[in-house]
Amino acid sequence: MTRVLEGRKVIVTGASRGIGKAIAIKFAQKGAVVGINYFQSDEQAKRVLSVVNEHSEGKLLKGDVAVESDARRVVCEFAEKYDGLDVLINNAGIYIRKDLEKSTVEDYDRTMDVNVRGPFLLSKFALPYLKESDHARIINLSSQLAFKGSTHGTAYVTSKAALIGLTRALALELGPHGITVNAIAPGTIETDIIGDYTEEKKKVRAANIPVDRLGQPVDIAYAALYLASDMGSYVNGEILGVNGGSALH
Ligand code: NAD
Repeated sequence: MTRVLEGRKVIVTGASRGIGKAIAIKFAQKGAVVGINYFQSDEQAKRVLSVVNEHSEGKLLKGDVAVESDARRVVCEFAEKYDGLDVLINNAGIYIRKDLEKSTVEDYDRTMDVNVRGPFLLSKFALPYLKESDHARIINLSSQLAFKGSTHGTAYVTSKAALIGLTRALALELGPHGITVNAIAPGTIETDIIGDYTEEKKKVRAANIPVDRLGQPVDIAYAALYLASDMGSYVNGEILGVNGGSALH
């Protein structure tokens, strides 16, 4: 496939590892200039930047997506340097695996802050730039757990369902400005977010997925690529499941 994102200006939040890293690298391979937001790990982020630079160009954007001043700076630093923004990918997220009884109010607040307030803030600050773009997209990383629930994900499931609400509201509101807004709802993808899974648990999980394997970060990067490219330009307000068929169980 050719460089279908040549020259597109893209910010990916939480791009130092996992799915965000895979999206940043895949998008650079397809020609995009990539803003690599990350929270803490300078070394990991620099490694992503060096791969991105092999294919295109990237910029490190350190900041906590849940903090208003950081979110504003992340967007403005990138958009001012590259004279615009075409695609915002709200990927940063946290999963505190706890049921209601064990969850603290702080767990709930932090989860909602990173997983919902973050995408709200980034979308808000990106809006003036996206309005000027001919290829404007917002892509939010929700989860199939938003539909299925979880016995140990009280705050996480709530946050990912809220993100679907944000996606649908913005799709309606921003469509007339030429901005499409969609979400991806991944199944189980092998990243640090499931770092506490034993090999046995991974096998059991994979056996319950019709294609008989866990997802890889690049599986989600391809879905994001479709939505961000011209091929996805008429898709708006959708929640794209990428889960090997596990949603059918
Ligand atoms: P991950 O834990 O490997 O990566 C998450 C990234 O977000 C990390 O780089 C982390 O530093 C960053 N981050 C966390 N808090 C941040 C903050 N406040 N500001 C900026 N960055 C912050 O997880 P992942 O699996 O790559 O997940 C990426 C997204 O996909 C998340 O939103 C997650 O909820 C979603 N998701 C993942 C799975 C899965 O099975 N891996 C399934 C469904 C949805």
